[in-house]
Amino acid sequence: MRVETLLNKFSIKGINYNPNSGGKGLLSAEEQLALVGLCWHKSPVGWLVLFVEGLRDTKALKQLHIETRKEALGLMKSWRGVYPEKALTALCATAIAEVTQQSGQICPECNGSAIVVDKHRNRCKCQCCKSGRITWTQETRFAYFTQVLPVTYSRFKHYKEVLNQLVAWLIENRAVVVMVMEEQVESERGNSSEVI
Ligand SMILES: [Zn+2]
Repeated sequence: MRVETLLNKFSIKGINYNPNSGGKGLLSAEEQLALVGLCWHKSPVGWLVLFVEGLRDTKALKQLHIETRKEALGLMKSWRGVYPEKALTALCATAIAEVTQQSGQICPECNGSAIVVDKHRNRCKCQCCKSGRITWTQETRFAYFTQVLPVTYSRFKHYKEVLNQLVAWLIENRAVVVMVMEEQVESERGNSSEVI
């Protein structure tokens, strides 16, 4: 099931939202999840990933950056030599971009439509992407990383090991939360069939 569908099924709106337009209180992510029998503490990072991926939640993105940076800092403890602060930002931004857009970034040439118009006004297939997405490869990861820290490719290859670990860590957290939601959907299905 798609993440958007899953979040929709539980009416989850993101980090915090106003339950009714006239009301004062904002429901926190934790409260929203508790209402539908889900638990924030299973994996706060996993929830943040899903909020960014499925809801384009900018507050969640900010918080996800903070959490990922902590993890990156831990991983960099075994790094030999010097690295600038900006390297952490580049690592986090690249890892988060990949995990929250696993099918690839939206193509900037066709804006994700996979169709472009040529100089004769003919519609043709976009030559830049695959179905509107720029898939993740060593090249596109490098390109993303160097938007923040413009280093050489050979230098990037050193950072790449930490980047892989960060991506794996985010994916693991995401998987925990997706599993929890799917289990909940399954058990609700089970309950409703018992009633019938
Ligand atoms: Zn394209």
